[in-house]
Amino acid sequence: MRLVVIGAGIAGLSAAIEAARGGIKEIVVIDAESRAGGKIHTLHRDGKIFEAGPDAFLRRNPVGLALVESLGLTGNLTAPSASSALLYASGQLHPMPRELAMGVPTDPIAPLKTTSVPILSRLRASVGISIGLKGDPSTDSLGYLCQRRLGRRFSELVVDPLIGGINAGSVFGSSMELVAPQLGSALTAPPIGPTKLLRRSVGNQKIRMAPTVPVFGSLSGGLSELVEAMVAELCALGVQFKFQTAALSMEKFGERIRLHLGSNDGVESELDSDMVVVAVPSGPASGLLAGLSKVASGRLGQIRYSSVALTVLGFRGVRNPLPAGISGVLSPARERTLTTAVSIASSKWPSWAEPDELLLRVSAGRMADQRFQNLDDEDLSELISKEASRIVGLPTVCDPTFTKVIRWHDALPQFRPHHSALIASARSILADETGSKVAIAGAYMYGSGIPASISSGIRAIGDLKPN
Ligand SMILES: Cc1cc2nc3c(=O)[nH]c(=O)nc-3n(C[C@H](O)[C@H](O)[C@H](O)COP(=O)(O)OP(=O)(O)OC[C@H]3O[C@@H](n4cnc5c(N)ncnc54)[C@H](O)[C@@H]3O)c2cc1C
Repeated sequence: MRLVVIGAGIAGLSAAIEAARGGIKEIVVIDAESRAGGKIHTLHRDGKIFEAGPDAFLRRNPVGLALVESLGLTGNLTAPSASSALLYASGQLHPMPRELAMGVPTDPIAPLKTTSVPILSRLRASVGISIGLKGDPSTDSLGYLCQRRLGRRFSELVVDPLIGGINAGSVFGSSMELVAPQLGSALTAPPIGPTKLLRRSVGNQKIRMAPTVPVFGSLSGGLSELVEAMVAELCALGVQFKFQTAALSMEKFGERIRLHLGSNDGVESELDSDMVVVAVPSGPASGLLAGLSKVASGRLGQIRYSSVALTVLGFRGVRNPLPAGISGVLSPARERTLTTAVSIASSKWPSWAEPDELLLRVSAGRMADQRFQNLDDEDLSELISKEASRIVGLPTVCDPTFTKVIRWHDALPQFRPHHSALIASARSILADETGSKVAIAGAYMYGSGIPASISSGIRAIGDLKPN
């Protein structure tokens, strides 16, 4: 019984681990790149690390921590040293009140403290919460739910940069269920009377005083340490890896699935398998499924992605102008900056930087703004360096002593309302049309982030039915 996993990102590796630990003996993992990890890619410079893609995973979703534990890496867990964001508005930096949950205020007082928003819009948000204005979570986008409760301006200036920043999209076209399910209760809570408000404020004080468990986690060697540990376990279990090998197409071949492969040096080959997990982004997955199920392929073809660029800038001998607890600054779409967020990497992850170095990781690109694509690396880094310096408030524009631009094409899937139904239908049609011999996994399925990708790999193995 042979299982082929196409894609050695975290979703494909999770599928392979699930299958190998479950006793499947012959597993082949193929990837078009020369390394495993996909978007997870820890880079090195002068003995220090920095991340080219994700820098942490959400600990609240237990699958990430469970994987770390099962690989014996719990002792290497790390957490960001800074976690408070600022908002950039009209050339000024504003704090994000602590009472906001992912940018959404939970009581009528919090919007009034949100100084990045004009006063009338703050009042509108406060009234919306007090009288319990709400949309319909079963049909409305996350943005519309926010707009109904908090008003358009508050949603654009506070919620959108925070939540939209997670997948470089806009809350206005996103599904609440997949992008920020934890906001459901905050956006649909009933009106708040004066007694409840008083009780809530006292409750909030208590919450603020309680010791906090880190929300995000990483590993001391960077997230690639997780990938390396997975590959090591898979190799020990006899799993075979084929790198620099792309899956080109698939078709039914008797009772089996035939894969057509192409190596980077142009050699084409075939590989027959009893079961296949397709763990690549939905665009290439749609192409690969076309020979097996036109309908499932068409479903995946509907999913859109945003491209992004990260520019890492090191400034030696430059003091961080922001307090140490500040992890970054968010720039709302209304500001029209190329920069969507500046992460103060040297505060968030002090081990990445030299003691006298200010290290910034600057994001550019969101779904409705791909201007960065028109600039080459040199022009992009120059522009971003000037803009980020202005945003964080460096006194003069300093020249960076280290610069690295990382471009991620079609990197972040967009979860529109009804996305779950689209995925459920693709899975069930694929199961029907291939006799559950082919399953799909990947970041585009169950929501943003690494834990959701891990879950997708585990669930894909559950979707397969060996003969
Ligand atoms: C800039 C950036 C920052 C992010 N930050 C965070 C964060 O802080 N926290 C978080 O939780 N998530 C973050 N994410 C999201 C997270 O990185 C992804 O959700 C996750 O890594 C996706 O894993 P995956 O296995 O689904 O896909 P991928 O990592 O894209 O892996 C797919 C693999 O398939 C291979 N492949 C593609 N086509 C073929 C083919 N035809 N044949 C063979 N192989 C193929 C690719 O080479 C790749 O290795 C970030 C993403 C980006 C881009």
